[in-house]
Parts: sequence; C-alpha cells; structure tokens
Amino acid sequence: MMSLEARREALRLPRPDVAAPGMEDPWNDEKWQKVKWTVFRDVAYDLGPFFEKHPGGNWLLNLAIGRDCTALMESYHLRPEVATARFRMLPKLEGFPVDAVAKSPRPNDSPLYNNIRNRVREELFPEEGKNKHRMGGDHATITILSFAAFAYGVYATIPGFLSGCLLGLAGAWIGLTIQHCANHGAMSPSPAVNGVLGLTNDLIGGSSLMWRYHHQVSHHIHCNDNAMDQDVYTAMPLLRFDARRPKAWYHRFQHWYMFLAFPLLQVAFQVGDIVGLFTRDTEGAKLHGATTWELATVVIGKFVHFGLLAAPLMSHAASAVVAGIVGFMACQGVVLACTFAVSHNVPEAKLPEDTGGEAWERDWGVQQLVTSADWGGKIGNFFTGGLNLQVEHHLFPAICFVHYPAIAKIVAEEAAKMGIPYSSYRTLPGIFVAFWKFVRDMGTAEQIDDVLLPKFANPQLSPAIN
Ligand SMILES: [Zn+2]
Repeated sequence: MMSLEARREALRLPRPDVAAPGMEDPWNDEKWQKVKWTVFRDVAYDLGPFFEKHPGGNWLLNLAIGRDCTALMESYHLRPEVATARFRMLPKLEGFPVDAVAKSPRPNDSPLYNNIRNRVREELFPEEGKNKHRMGGDHATITILSFAAFAYGVYATIPGFLSGCLLGLAGAWIGLTIQHCANHGAMSPSPAVNGVLGLTNDLIGGSSLMWRYHHQVSHHIHCNDNAMDQDVYTAMPLLRFDARRPKAWYHRFQHWYMFLAFPLLQVAFQVGDIVGLFTRDTEGAKLHGATTWELATVVIGKFVHFGLLAAPLMSHAASAVVAGIVGFMACQGVVLACTFAVSHNVPEAKLPEDTGGEAWERDWGVQQLVTSADWGGKIGNFFTGGLNLQVEHHLFPAICFVHYPAIAKIVAEEAAKMGIPYSSYRTLPGIFVAFWKFVRDMGTAEQIDDVLLPKFANPQLSPAIN
C-alpha cells in the first residue's frame, strides 16, 4: 500500500504542519512539544489551563492543539466575543515560532459572515447564554435511534441482503444526522451527550476521532480548497472531482463506474481509520491533540461494529450473514457518498477561480457560499440532518441542524444584498442530475492551474461588492 507521504507526494499536496527548512519547528522542538499550544490570530497560546474549563468539553478543544485554530474558534461560537475574551486570558507563549504554522482563514474578518451571524443572533437566538442553538434535535435522535434498533432487529432475525440494506439505510441516517451533528458539538447543549452520540459513528463502521479531524479540520475549514480539503482529493486516483487534479484516461467513464465505487466507501473507511491510527494522521490533518481514550475508540469501535454485524452467525448460515454485510456496506456507502458529494461537486460550488489571495486571506463567509450548494427544504433537512442546507451548515457547524431552514432565509437575503452567488436547488433529483453531469465533465476536463483571476474579491478589499 502507498504510504501517506508517498500519496501526498503523488498528489502534490503541501504539508501544513511541517516547518519550512531552516525554521524553528514547534512540532518537534522539545520545548513546545510539552505544551498544548495553539495559534489564534498570529499569537501562540498555551491551552493547558483552559482544558478543564472549556464549556464545549475537551474533545473539541483537542482539535485546536498544534495548529492555527482561528477558523475553528470563530465559526464554532455564535458569540465569538465571549470566547475571544476568555481565550485572551490564557498564557501567551513568548518566543514561539508563529510563522512556522500555516495560517487559518479568519471568519470574523468577513463582512458577509458578520452580517448573517448578527441577524441569526438577534432574530433566532436573542437570549444570551441559553445555548438554544444547540437544542431541538431530541426528537430526531429518538426517531433515528428507534429506526436503527428496529432495522438491527430485522437484520439479526432474518439476515440477508435486503435486511442488510435496511440496516445500511439506518446507518446512513445515523451518519448524516446524529454522529455528524453530535461530533460538531451541536446535537445537545451537553458536551457529554454530544460525546456519547458522536460515538455512533464508530457503531456504524467509521471512527468518530478520525472523522472530527478529517471533517472539521480539513474539510470545514478549507472547503473545496484543492490542497487542504481532504474531500477534494481522497477519491483520487479513482475519481476526479476537480479540474485542478491530474486527469487519467479512465476518468472519462467515471460518471458510470462511480456507482460501483460508492459501495466500497465503507471498505475505504476501514483502511483509512487503521492507517490513521498508526500514523496519527488523516490525509488532511494530523491528530496532534488526540488522547489515549480517543485513539482507543478507534479499536474498540471496530470490534463493536463488526461484532454486531457478525452476531447473527450464532444462529444463521454464514452465507446469509455475508449477504447481509454486503447489503449493509453497499447501501450505507451509496447513500452517504451521494448525499455528501452533491453539495460540493456541482459547477457553481466548485470554483476553480479562488476568491483571491492565500487561503487565509480570502473572505471566509463568501468562501462558504461559493463552495457549497443547497437543495430542498424542511423535509430534506429532516432526512439528511441538515446536510441538504450545506451552506448554512458550513457557516454554523455548531448550530443544531433543525434551525437551518430559518437561517437559510437570512443567508439568501444577506447574499442578495451583497451580490454574492447563493445556489439552492429545489429538489435532490435536481442537484443529483447537476452532480452527475459535473462528474461526467470532470472526466474529460483539461487540468487547470490552482488559482485563476479572482472572481469574487474580498468585499473588504473591493468596493465593487459593497
Ligand atoms: Zn459538517
């Protein structure tokens, strides 16, 4: 198997957590290795004294260790001024080589994001300190877990391909909704409840630990960035979803064979999780802050997941159980892949034209609007845990998904005022057709450079958008 380093080399990916030659290296320097350091807006802090005090719990604070956490900090707190004030009470690390750490985008510098967030605060969550933005998901949690328990009961009683598919549907619903929202810290005001619900990712065959780093650090902070968003390149070389990636002859058939590749997603998870456990690295983010317990969840989770799938072997034929496992993996893989892929892989969400400058300099709010596409409304929201309203999810990953339809109205109005494109398809079939055509076109599109002329300049820098 290709090593992570070799794969990075082959895909020409930069390493955001390796110091440039001749530069002091905060990841390997003994002096800084002992410190739970993070960088926020060009200043290094020791997070140690804050570890038992963070209201959102340690497991999300861990993501900030060993990197610039500005985008995580500013996009996860609805009232970032409160978080920033507490943050600034932490010890500053004098003499820390801040320049060696890749800079994060800065959401609070985005006029669009500030406008939207101010309205969301005033109109939807006016009561300070009540955590209402993390409430509302209880009914969905109960409904989905009940459906999953029913589906597992059917699978355990009559294992086979069809009951496996039913279990796969339940697994996908957990994956889209409960684990996703909980691992973002948004399914409940209680970090402990979010932590437990987040482990459902391990139950359905993934890894909650790997997912938090891959999804929150790599994908959310750098959405559709050619080099930094793991989701842009992890399907390579099998599938090419971006004209900035190298093209191979077989990609011209990818809009057909992708339907055979999606069922294998589940197998890819297993390989990626185990490799990541040994390398302490997902392809897009190193696990700098992972604790021993978090690393243990990867192994325990695999045993529980495969134990549950294999349990019917005690009273049923192996062929029926194998058929059930195949049905589970195929069905869950197809539903997850299709639902995740459509939101970021349609022409209007895949901007080869970047919004100007280095990743950290671009307008973070505008970036979220031009790299995601919405579809459907409240019904889609219920069945996908808000992933249909992907723009709103990226703007507010720490708000419970049930609030996204109301936020979408505000986003549409504010985007229109500033003349920024906001794409929203009426239905899932509508966006799926656009996605299929996009994948077809990417199969033959010539490779292009990473950065072309800026199409949507930073509103702060350009009076044209204001
Ligand atoms: Zn997310």
